[in-house]
Amino acid sequence: MTEFKGKGVYGAVAVGKISVFKRAEISAIREYIEDCETEKKRLKSAKEKALKQIEEIHDKALREVGETNAKIFEIHKMMLDDEDYNNSIEIIIDTQKVNAEYAVAVTSDNFAAMFSAMDDAYMRARSADVRDISNRLIANLSEKSSEKAKSSEKVIICADDLAPSETVSLDKERVLAFITAHGSSNSHTAILARNMNIPAVIGAGDEFLAAVKDGMNACVDGYTGEIYLEPDEITVKKILKKQRDDEEKKRLLQELKGKENITLDGTKIKIFANIGRVDNIGAVLINDADGIGLFRSEFLYLENSDYPTEEQQFSVYKKVLESMSGKKVIIRTLDIGADKQADYFKLDKEENPALGFRAIRICLSRPEIFKIQLRALYKASVYGNLAIMFPMITSVSEVDKILEICSNVREELSRENIKFLENVELGVMIETPAAAVISDKLAPLVDFFSVGTNDLIQYTLACDRQNPNLESFCDPHHEAILRLIEMSAENAHKNGIWIGICGELAADTELTETFLRMGIDELSVSPSFVLNVREKVRSIDLTK
Ligand code: PEP
Ligand code: MG
Repeated sequence: MTEFKGKGVYGAVAVGKISVFKRAEISAIREYIEDCETEKKRLKSAKEKALKQIEEIHDKALREVGETNAKIFEIHKMMLDDEDYNNSIEIIIDTQKVNAEYAVAVTSDNFAAMFSAMDDAYMRARSADVRDISNRLIANLSEKSSEKAKSSEKVIICADDLAPSETVSLDKERVLAFITAHGSSNSHTAILARNMNIPAVIGAGDEFLAAVKDGMNACVDGYTGEIYLEPDEITVKKILKKQRDDEEKKRLLQELKGKENITLDGTKIKIFANIGRVDNIGAVLINDADGIGLFRSEFLYLENSDYPTEEQQFSVYKKVLESMSGKKVIIRTLDIGADKQADYFKLDKEENPALGFRAIRICLSRPEIFKIQLRALYKASVYGNLAIMFPMITSVSEVDKILEICSNVREELSRENIKFLENVELGVMIETPAAAVISDKLAPLVDFFSVGTNDLIQYTLACDRQNPNLESFCDPHHEAILRLIEMSAENAHKNGIWIGICGELAADTELTETFLRMGIDELSVSPSFVLNVREKVRSIDLTK
C-alpha cells in the first residue's frame, strides 16, 4: 500500500479502481503498413462505432440539454459521413502506406485548417468539430480505448489537472471520485466536483501522478485528502466504515427536508443552491433548496464550440425556471476568462488572467454577445421567478452601463412585441474588494448583492485561487474578508436591498452564525450542502 496526501475538496469517501484521465487530444504516430485493405477495414469499423457513439451522445444531449444544443451531434454524424473527408483518409492510407490513425490525424489537420481559414464565423467554428470527430475515430482505432469503452464499471478518475470543460464532459455515472495531482481547492474544477457530489482530492502531487496506473485499487478520503494505492484490508475496512457513517448522516439529514431554515430564536434565512448545468436541478430539488442562488451560465458557453444562440440560451433558461416552479432562480451572466476559456472567444493570452479580461469586462466590451444573453434571459423571465446577477463588478460606471444595456434590451423586446417581465430583479456580485468598499454607492442602483467569496478571497488576500502553493497563505476566515462582507451587508440593508453569499464560504458551517449575526439574508451552496447548512442554522441561538 502506498499513501499520498492532497487536499480534500468534497467530504465523502470512495473505494474502487483507478482510471487515468486521457486528454481528448490524441497523438497518432505514423507507422508504415503493408496491407492497405486491412487498414481501411479497421477504419470502416472505427467509423461505424463512432457513428453509434455519436448517436448515443445525441440522445443523451436531447434529454439533458434540449434539441437545439443536441444539433451539433447531427452535424458530427454528417461530417463523419462526408465523402471528401473519407476519401482523403483513404487516399493517404493508399498513397503513403501509413496506418489509419495517422491518415485520420493528417486529414483532421487539413480540414481543420481549411475551416479555420473561412470568412464565415460559423464555418470557422467547425474546425473544432472536425478535430472532435477525428479524435473519436483515432480513439476507436486504438485498442486501448476500445477496452475502456467496454467497461461500465465506476472508476476513480486521476489526472494531472482537469479543466472545467473537461470535468463537465466526464460521464458522472462512471465517476466514483476525482484525484488531481495539481489544482487548488477554489478552482472551478473543485467547485464542479462539489456540485457533482463526488469525493474529490486535489493537489496530490507529481509523485502520486508517477505512481498511479490504470486499474489499480484505491481508497480516497475526501475529508482528509488521503489517498491509498493498493490499500491493505484494514484501510479498506476503515474507508468502508466511513462510507456507512456518511450514508447514515445523509439519512438523518433527509429528515430535515421540508423544514424551515430557522434559528432557535426564530431568525430565518434562505438557503439556495449553486448550479452550472440544467441536469444539476434534480440535486437542487432532492436537497430541498429554497431556490437557485447562482446559475453559472458560462458552462453553457464552455460546452459549446461556438457562441450559444439566443434560442439555445432561451430554452436552457426557460427549462431551469420551469423546473423550479416559481422558486427564485438567480442566473449570473457570462463569467468567462481566467480559468474558464472557450477558444471561439479568441481571448488574448494574458500574464495575469485572473486580473485580466474576464466576465463583465468582456460583456461590456462586446455588447453584442451580452445583449444576446440578456434578450434570452428576459424572454425566459415569464416562465418563473428570475433574477439576473452580474459578476466581477468594480465600479459604479460599470453598473450604470449594465443598467442602460438592460433597459435597451427591454425596449427592443417591447418593440418586437415579445413578452417579458419588466421587474426582473437585477443584482451585482460583491467579489472584488472594490465592490465591497463602494457597496454604499452600488446598493442604491440594484435590487440585491451576492457575495462571491471565492474571488473576494483571492483578490483581497492577493492569492491566486488556482495556485496550490498558496493554500497556507489563504485564510478564508481572514478578518479582512469578514469585514468586507459585513460592510456590504450594512450598506445593502441601509438601502433596503437583500444580500446573499454564493461563494464556497457560504457552506462553511463554522461561519454560519457569524453570517446570521451580520444579517445575511441568503446563503447559496452546492446542492449537497443545503441540508448541512439547514441543520447548522437550526442549532443556533442568536440571543446567546
Ligand atoms: C465567487 O467568486 O465566489 C463565485 C461564486 O464565482 P465563481 O466561483 O464562479 O468565480
Ligand atoms: Mg467569481
